[in-house]
Amino acid sequence: MTTIIDGTKIAQRIKEELKIELEEVKTSLGKEPLLVSIIIGDNPATKVYVKNQCKIFDELQIKYELVELPQEIKENELEERIVKMNNEPQITGIMLNLPLPPNINQRKIQNTISPLKDVEGITAENLGKLVYAEFTPIVAPCTALAVIECLKETKVELKGKNTVIVGHSEIVGKPILLMLLSSLLGSVTPTVCHIATKNLAEHTKNAEILIVAVGKSKLITAEMVNDGVIVIDVGINRVEVVDEKGQPVIDEKTGKPKTKIVGDVDFESVSRKASFITPVPGGVGSVTTVMLARNLVNLFKTQLGLKVKPYKFL
Ligand code: NAP
Repeated sequence: MTTIIDGTKIAQRIKEELKIELEEVKTSLGKEPLLVSIIIGDNPATKVYVKNQCKIFDELQIKYELVELPQEIKENELEERIVKMNNEPQITGIMLNLPLPPNINQRKIQNTISPLKDVEGITAENLGKLVYAEFTPIVAPCTALAVIECLKETKVELKGKNTVIVGHSEIVGKPILLMLLSSLLGSVTPTVCHIATKNLAEHTKNAEILIVAVGKSKLITAEMVNDGVIVIDVGINRVEVVDEKGQPVIDEKTGKPKTKIVGDVDFESVSRKASFITPVPGGVGSVTTVMLARNLVNLFKTQLGLKVKPYKFL
């Protein structure tokens, strides 16, 4: 039998936990966190992500400030703004929405954010802590944390399991690898596949756990997986809806082909073989923004010298 991992349900549970933690700090110390989210230029996809952030932070009643900067901003001006925010005690976390304009060195600017306010867990210091398995408090890339939360939901012992991670980006594949390698979060036996992997199916067929974060629809099909595999699909792809003859379905209102969001895994066929699988949408993506709030609360408690619950698998 296949269990669909419900990201919305996981997100709801984490939101409830965060509300309780925040209420405790508010009652005992009268303090509340503040997230500052920086957006540069006018990218429609970034605006959608920011709207989603606003919605979740509003629901959690966490103070959220959006700082909109022009596309023409110079690197040193942005650096100065961030340094100022690092020094403002009322700001708990700083989020820098991507993409940045081409004249700005992304890695340099991301590392201008103080690790104590790095709500996305993307500074060299916070990413480095994953190598050392320093997980309390955990402040790590949100998508990678969302994957761990989806795996936790299965309640399956991960120790030693053959785990294939397809895709090794700095914010998804690599942090997932480092976290799952640690004895606190998995002790799995990992294989990492990427663009130069010669025979992807040869690796995926050996997977007891398969995590896919590439950005290519139907990259993983049923023939590429074993019965009983746990599948976590991180990919987000917009594809055209087709009819039974494979022809695009036209939207009557717009006259344009209808589209939908899918993952990297062919859900229909792979879900027949998997023991657990995340859907897209409604899987990892539903948990990601909540993990931003989780990171913020961890930073908030650390800044106040409060204890943070150890982060471990079960
Ligand atoms: P990325 O930076 O473009 O990385 C993609 C990775 O896939 C790279 O490591 C690349 O390898 C590898 N790759 C590309 N083609 C491949 C192939 N044919 N076979 C095996 N590996 C291949 O992307 P990302 O930021 O990690 O995002 C990956 C996907 O996750 C995207 O669809 C993105 O939209 C989605 N995403 C979802 C969430 C969420 O909350 N659900 C959050 C972030 C991203 P090389 O580096 O060797 O080229």
